[in-house]
Amino acid sequence: MSSDIDELRREIDIVDVISEYLNLEKVGSNYRTNCPFHPDDTPSFYVSPSKQIFKCFGCGVGGDAIKFVSLYEDISYFEAALELAKRYGKKLDLERISKDEKIYVALDKVSDFYRSSLLKNKEASEYVRSRGIDPKVVKKFDLGYAPSSEELVKILKESGLLEVYIETKNLISPTKGVYRDLFLRRVVIPIRDPRGRVIGFGGRRIAEDNSPKYINSPDSRVFKKRDNLFGLYEAKEYIKEEGFAILVEGYFDLLRLFSERIRNVVAPLGTALTQNQATLLSKFTKKVYLLYDGDAAGRKAMKSAIPLLLKAGLEVYPVYLPEGYDPDEFIKEFGREKLKELINNSEEVFQLIIKTAEENFEEKTKEFRYYLSFVPDGVKRFALASEFHTKYKVPMDILLVKPEKIPQEGNIKLSFKEKVFLKGLLEMKPKIDINALDLSPTLKGLALKALNGEDHLLPKEVLEYNVDNLEKLFNGILKDFQKCEKKKKKDLKNVNT
Ligand SMILES: [Zn+2]
Repeated sequence: MSSDIDELRREIDIVDVISEYLNLEKVGSNYRTNCPFHPDDTPSFYVSPSKQIFKCFGCGVGGDAIKFVSLYEDISYFEAALELAKRYGKKLDLERISKDEKIYVALDKVSDFYRSSLLKNKEASEYVRSRGIDPKVVKKFDLGYAPSSEELVKILKESGLLEVYIETKNLISPTKGVYRDLFLRRVVIPIRDPRGRVIGFGGRRIAEDNSPKYINSPDSRVFKKRDNLFGLYEAKEYIKEEGFAILVEGYFDLLRLFSERIRNVVAPLGTALTQNQATLLSKFTKKVYLLYDGDAAGRKAMKSAIPLLLKAGLEVYPVYLPEGYDPDEFIKEFGREKLKELINNSEEVFQLIIKTAEENFEEKTKEFRYYLSFVPDGVKRFALASEFHTKYKVPMDILLVKPEKIPQEGNIKLSFKEKVFLKGLLEMKPKIDINALDLSPTLKGLALKALNGEDHLLPKEVLEYNVDNLEKLFNGILKDFQKCEKKKKKDLKNVNT
């Protein structure tokens, strides 16, 4: 359902609105002027009529027409919306503004705070620089830094957004009324939905301590990790232009490639690729290159991503970096052109297998059949099988049979406890020894798949299962499984003595 504010956004024109305040000069399809929000003689302030947004490439500030008025007049976003509605003779009922709408405004506010804090923090901006991130990319992605929980809470309180922001779970509350920023003292990477709205954050530790290297916003009503891709909003025009997307493993891989002017890049959100992410990507392109780390973990992750991408109807091109290199290290040593060359020379996954099957025939045939079973288009599946058959004389009916039965809904009946356990493994990837738990053989098999990131081999009811307090429930269930195993061992000992 579209909200009143959405309607207002559609009705007003950002060029009209900003022209009332500033003299805009037309350049190509955009407009520009000196930025009113920082001392600027370049002009670095741009307005895009097609996207209906403004963006300053000097200080990084940006947003829609309502946000411009709110910043310029120094009033809240909703006051600015009211003001504009009045000017345009539209009715706007503030009571009817949805909670989601407010959460987006709160997230944008927090992102602005992080962005302006990065410039002020030497250690954080030095960290970003040391990772080879171009200043233009820092601004494009609004990279930030989380300096202080107190300041953050103060800003949210002042704009009446603290209450809705709590729903994002980006604040930790150890005691009632006390809040700690989840991203405190981290470099922060805003994550946007395809419309460009900030929906969550990723945070990179910059101190060498024992805290996790990366953390992400927990899932909430506006942020679902499984359903969004990092960089899609920023990359989608380039993906269209190039005719393909490059999928990388992490935030900094993507930011590095952007810094090398390779911009048709997306990444999953701190976990293994999901089916929903693959499907989302397929709405923007039909061709994807997988550029993962050149090590065992990277190749394994690639192997579990391929079926999901194929299932989404994408043509998949695995790119193999030399052993021990990640994309950044490869560029540092061989340069950007060599990386582009490596990508351009990479072969489509089925063609690659057909070409190299002789080297390890049994294994490659199995792999071919396995991947083939995910191609949704029957005609294409048949054509690929024929190609393999013609070259290697493997009977068609063998090629077209699934090598491993993939559990489908209804095949396995899982209890609540088992579902929570598998979902927990999938989402949190804890470091535990599955063999030390008391699990049925079926559950153990699924648990190993969940830990290996082989999402596609898990029942749909697990993938789509949503539960509040997953972590707490999971830990309780884990303890149960551990206890049972200990008791069993003890009983066994008693029998033996
Ligand atoms: Zn500016």
